[in-house]
Amino acid sequence: MSTGNQDNPFEIAQRQINACADILKLDESTRQGLLHPMREFHVTFPVHMDDGTTRLFKGYRVQYNDAKGPTKGGIRFHPDETIDTVRALAAWMTWKCALLDLPLGGGKGGVICNPKELSQQELERVSRGYIKAIASFIGPDKDVPAPDVYTNPQVMAWMVDEYSSIVGKNQFGVMTGKPLVIGGSPGRGDATARGGLYTLREAAKKIGLDLGKATIAVQGFGNAGSFAASLAESLFGSKIVAVCDSRGAVCCLGGFSAMAVNQHKQATSTVLECAGGECITSDELLEMDVDVLVLAALEGTLTQRNAGRVKAKIVMELANGPTTPEADEILYEKGVHVIPDFLCNAGGVTVSYFEMVQNASMYYWDEKEVHEKLDKRMTRAYHEVAEMSEKHAINMRKAAYAVAVARVVEAMKVRGWV
Ligand code: GLU
Repeated sequence: MSTGNQDNPFEIAQRQINACADILKLDESTRQGLLHPMREFHVTFPVHMDDGTTRLFKGYRVQYNDAKGPTKGGIRFHPDETIDTVRALAAWMTWKCALLDLPLGGGKGGVICNPKELSQQELERVSRGYIKAIASFIGPDKDVPAPDVYTNPQVMAWMVDEYSSIVGKNQFGVMTGKPLVIGGSPGRGDATARGGLYTLREAAKKIGLDLGKATIAVQGFGNAGSFAASLAESLFGSKIVAVCDSRGAVCCLGGFSAMAVNQHKQATSTVLECAGGECITSDELLEMDVDVLVLAALEGTLTQRNAGRVKAKIVMELANGPTTPEADEILYEKGVHVIPDFLCNAGGVTVSYFEMVQNASMYYWDEKEVHEKLDKRMTRAYHEVAEMSEKHAINMRKAAYAVAVARVVEAMKVRGWV
């Protein structure tokens, strides 16, 4: 199933499951049940391009484990998408939902495409074509997709519309992360970053860091990274001293204004040449002497190659899978407090769950209520993981696995699967 490459995300996900199965002393059939996706779909679908040609696109949807409820997880549009990446991400969604104690399983989808090279019309046709291809496998009580890398509320709206016409009725609950006007939840837009910052607040208390005086470097300036920068500034008064995107990095030891970086990025599509910023390399950003390093780009950022040079006191993983297991051990030995991805970035799916609840009940909450409920769940999950980490002297990721996987296994057991 995997390629024999130790950086392959699914191999990493499987190694993490094996380590957790050892900690939890799981029997062989339970271990095997956790190591593989329950179902996966590979689809190829045609899209009419603006120049009159028709192109075939390839997509995947993996439903990793639905013991605790319908599978849940985003759809990525990325030129480098692979089935193993989607499998890994679907596994991580399973643990993420369980860790936050949501009544959901884990899934993930992906289409191999480069949205930066598609017109809006082509993007709409790719979105609709993918949903047409997977429509019979998803549904509000089966599998509920959401935005992820390079997909957004507009893409969700096209997908909901396509699915609704296929089933012959409005089915807003089939996707989350929708625009508000068609059943989106207040607070979903910045939920991933906000949830991560709630865990950062708890982590800072634990290690005695004053966030009001803290310096932060943000790697990745998409949805999660840009909201994390502006919220860290507005909620805590922290100083953003470096940011980067796929084109490069800039630093400003006196501190950037997150709003100014956001405006610059919107105007020029990059953070490079942002006023007051000095050009550095993305590797230099990761190794800066800051209090908090926010990882908000893609998987595989911190590896055994560079983890030893990380100087941050806290690493906040808003991306999925940014740290390899080897890097985890190095950071743990150095005493870096890592808030692992499927804890740190669980705010997105938690508010997605709130969106599902609101869609099903046809009653909508206000933003304050969403923030309070999100804070409560993120804070509880953080402390459950921190306690497990201390009790068993294991790193925060292993602790998060132990809490989450135990819940999935319990559901599998009571259902008679293992
Ligand atoms: N794509 C987000 C994640 O990786 C959100 C998933 C969802 O809301 O279902 O957690």
